Amino acid sequence: MRKRNPDGIARAARAQACSRCGACTFRGLDADAGAFAVRVDAYPLDAAGELLALVAGRRTYTLRWIPGRARYEIDRRESLDIESHPPGEDVNADVVAVHQCNAAPLPRARTTIQRARKRVMLTDEPPF
Ligand SMILES: [Zn+2]
Repeated sequence: MRKRNPDGIARAARAQACSRCGACTFRGLDADAGAFAVRVDAYPLDAAGELLALVAGRRTYTLRWIPGRARYEIDRRESLDIESHPPGEDVNADVVAVHQCNAAPLPRARTTIQRARKRVMLTDEPPF
């Protein structure tokens, strides 16, 4: 059972423009228990991007698309995750940085999230 916290932020992450700078972000709770509300950049990082984010003191997260629940979730990346699951390795799991308004852009990767790609493929199917 999942409950919303008093701020209305849920485990299911929502795409939301940053109210200060207008950047595309996702906002949600970063764990099933003992969670913090976080806002992360929407664009996926490559390995160099994650390294630069960490060096700059920005925590990184996995933005995961969960097809069975039809929602996004944000998970904290701990040191073991960073070591054993580099960006781009897992399907439907992009590595993103905590959002920081007007920060210098970080090196990006292609998304591993297959949601949009599937939608395009469906429209290419013949209607019979
Ligand atoms: Zn911002």
